[in-house]
Amino acid sequence: MADPKGFLTHDRELPQRRPVDVRIRDWREVYDAFPAEKLTRQAARCMDCGIPFCHNGCPLGNLIPEWNDLVYRDDWREAIERLHATNNFPEFTGRLCPAPCEMACVLGINADPVAIKRVEVEIIDRAFAEGWVTPQPPLARTGKKVAVVGSGPAGLAAAQQLTRAGHDVVVFERADAIGGLLRYGIPEFKMEKRNIDRRIEQMVAEGTEFRTGVHVGVDVTAAQLRAEFDAIVLAGGATAWRDLPVPGRDAEGVYQAMEYLPPANKGFGDSSISAQGKHVVVIGGGDTGADCIGTAVRQGAASITQLEIMPKPPADRPGSQPWPTFPMLFKMESAHEELAELGGDRVYAVSTTEFVKDAEGRLAALRLVDVEGPAAGFKPVPGTEREIPAQLVTLAMGFLGPEKGGLLTELAELSAGEFFDPRGNVARNRSYQTGVDGVFAAGDMGRGQSLIVWAIAEGRSAAAAVDEYLTGQTALPVAIPPTARPLV
Ligand SMILES: Cc1cc2nc3c(=O)[nH]c(=O)nc-3n(C[C@H](O)[C@H](O)[C@H](O)COP(=O)(O)OP(=O)(O)OC[C@H]3O[C@@H](n4cnc5c(N)ncnc54)[C@H](O)[C@@H]3O)c2cc1C
Ligand code: SF4
Repeated sequence: MADPKGFLTHDRELPQRRPVDVRIRDWREVYDAFPAEKLTRQAARCMDCGIPFCHNGCPLGNLIPEWNDLVYRDDWREAIERLHATNNFPEFTGRLCPAPCEMACVLGINADPVAIKRVEVEIIDRAFAEGWVTPQPPLARTGKKVAVVGSGPAGLAAAQQLTRAGHDVVVFERADAIGGLLRYGIPEFKMEKRNIDRRIEQMVAEGTEFRTGVHVGVDVTAAQLRAEFDAIVLAGGATAWRDLPVPGRDAEGVYQAMEYLPPANKGFGDSSISAQGKHVVVIGGGDTGADCIGTAVRQGAASITQLEIMPKPPADRPGSQPWPTFPMLFKMESAHEELAELGGDRVYAVSTTEFVKDAEGRLAALRLVDVEGPAAGFKPVPGTEREIPAQLVTLAMGFLGPEKGGLLTELAELSAGEFFDPRGNVARNRSYQTGVDGVFAAGDMGRGQSLIVWAIAEGRSAAAAVDEYLTGQTALPVAIPPTARPLV
């Protein structure tokens, strides 16, 4: 423990977000730089607990107290070694993770937790700036070939681990660029795409091959892939979205969040679906909804309203969600701050009953009603029916699992047991292997809609299983079994 009094003498501090009126004029990340001396004080708050619960809070098992101590002692080079030992991509998690580690931090029992995520991102950004993130090609090659389907965080983590273990790895991606939801779901203002590009450069230099624009199951069959490769890792995500089949759903102007966000992420403001000058309604109160808000703000929406069917969550931990669980709390993301400053609304316990169309079939308004909580089955509250104007609606109501058909249907026919689990995700045994010999599944495709940190943890773990399958042994680390779940 670097500073035995650090947690008593320093308060938690995070970098400032750039002023709303400035940041909404560009697409860059919202946070200002954080001076090194401030970060050292934040690292000094870590108590180096005998039992660091943060390790368990983090699905990757990041060695948090160790790198806090190294940052405090100004040994950044060793800090990135220790961070990379458990996390292939701290630049993604350090920016985007909801930080369940901080909710499990022991200091958080009676004070503000250590700013773990901020220390994490500063370590990796410093490492890139100093030129310490270099390719780590394998010392020997095995001659075994592995196909990874999908280039989100799960596929990338699996590919990097397997390439470094000496296998010939090809990543297939149906989109025109690598990154999965990091690339076309998550907006630039949360993570600039250069963070993905520089990591891909490292992976290419290590020997990983990327083939974009290849839809496996359409452009190439599963049978062809199995004939060409010794093992396959399915990492195609959980991209089947939840819909809202109420009257008027076919109105022009109603889009799924993942129809709206990708063109905005490609063109930054110059999007085929623009919110400019429109009354925008975002249905869904989660992270995806917040990403739609931030995007619509930057496109110049006339007004934005966010609707959520659940009641407003509490600001502080309720007794039913005690430390060290990850509580469902009211969040003020950067996009919510922008919404508030521009006079928009976040409306809770409300349900959409109809998309109202004009004579040309274009969306004109939304018909709403207040509802009672989930215990009452979201029963409508009589007398609360109303309409709000809307020309653009984005549906951000979550995802139902992987897309069926094509690749998965073909593999399901070959499966020795049930290919899908009861929730419709791809079923795996304890070694991440599906019912088809040599075919493994990692990330949202096996777990269902989740988080980047879980996807990386699964990708790393599945890589260890594939390595063992191909060579009979492995030195690759296993972060989690496929059955691991968040502490809630
Ligand atoms: C808008 C949005 C914002 C989010 N924000 C956050 C956040 O801030 N923090 C966080 O932790 N999590 C966030 N998430 C969740 C997180 O992005 C996912 O949990 C994570 O990306 C899952 O990783 P994955 O590798 O399993 O799949 P994905 O990232 O979904 O990648 C799967 C890839 O596989 C490709 N693919 C699918 N099928 C095929 C095929 N047959 N052939 C070729 N390619 C195929 C897809 O095109 C895609 O690129 C967000 C999700 C969304 C939708
Ligand atoms: S990856 Fe997420 S949970 Fe793990 S240390 Fe980083 S912020 Fe915390």
